[in-house]
Amino acid sequence: MQTLLRTIYEDVKPLIGQGKVADYIPALANVDPNQFGIAIYSNQGELFQIGDAETPFSIQSISKVFSLTLAIKHYGEGMWQRVGCEPSGLPFNSLVQLEYEHGIPRNPFINAGALVVSDMNQSRFASPHYAMREFVRRVSGNPELMTDQVVANSEYEFRHRNAAMAHLMKAYGNFENPVDDVLKSYFSNCALRMSCIDLAKAFNFLANKGYCSISHEQIISEQEARQVNALMATSGMYDEAGSFAFQVGLPGKSGVGGGIVAIVPNRFSICVWSPALNKVGNSTAGVAALESMTKQIGWSVY
Ligand code: GLN
Repeated sequence: MQTLLRTIYEDVKPLIGQGKVADYIPALANVDPNQFGIAIYSNQGELFQIGDAETPFSIQSISKVFSLTLAIKHYGEGMWQRVGCEPSGLPFNSLVQLEYEHGIPRNPFINAGALVVSDMNQSRFASPHYAMREFVRRVSGNPELMTDQVVANSEYEFRHRNAAMAHLMKAYGNFENPVDDVLKSYFSNCALRMSCIDLAKAFNFLANKGYCSISHEQIISEQEARQVNALMATSGMYDEAGSFAFQVGLPGKSGVGGGIVAIVPNRFSICVWSPALNKVGNSTAGVAALESMTKQIGWSVY
């Protein structure tokens, strides 16, 4: 496995730093683009790593999987009345579909969908962000995970697009709580800082039929874990989900912090990270690393 990681590293080296670091808020624009790391966690508990796998970064949209998991735990099937499970084919922060679909977002991984999921968690927890952080600390086995308050505040300052989506959904009756409260929880979730190792471990339950071998608990049922993986496969990579399925063939979820998590069902959870992004907002070297991995060992689910 270590040889595989070294080969991948050599393969993608020329791409590290290619593209653009997320710059929609100043706090993310200052990240060094020339970082790269991979961590792979097996269902047997083995950990493999290379590069900057221990450096924490802003998990951003990867947090949408954690909030979805918390919502599924509580609402079960009922939650699919408020958010769909179809790919959107549009940028993650698009508003247009909301109008056509009467305030029901297409899936939980575009921003509108993640905001509805955050709204559902807001109705249930007194401090939804702390509930989520506690959950992630437990499933990653890292009690020291922290929220980057500078990133969270900066997101809030530049919140208008996300606020517009939330207000539109409220107008359609698909939003229960005050918009600002939900935005604050959502941005704090996005601003969690985790390393590739933390994330590879935290996603173990999705590779392991819903059971987390780190906290030793059944997080969601086997069928629900399958559904989350299916959503990641169809909608986890923004509007690059099709070519990611084509080239890599694994359920994956990316964030504009440059992280990508991928699941090899029944075997491994993987996290790759490199902050420079391609045009749709996925890590350039990260996508290339997962492609290289698939080419060499054929871990595709298809
Ligand atoms: N915090 C970002 C936003 O809401 C998350 C973006 C992302 O990673 N796609 O716009």
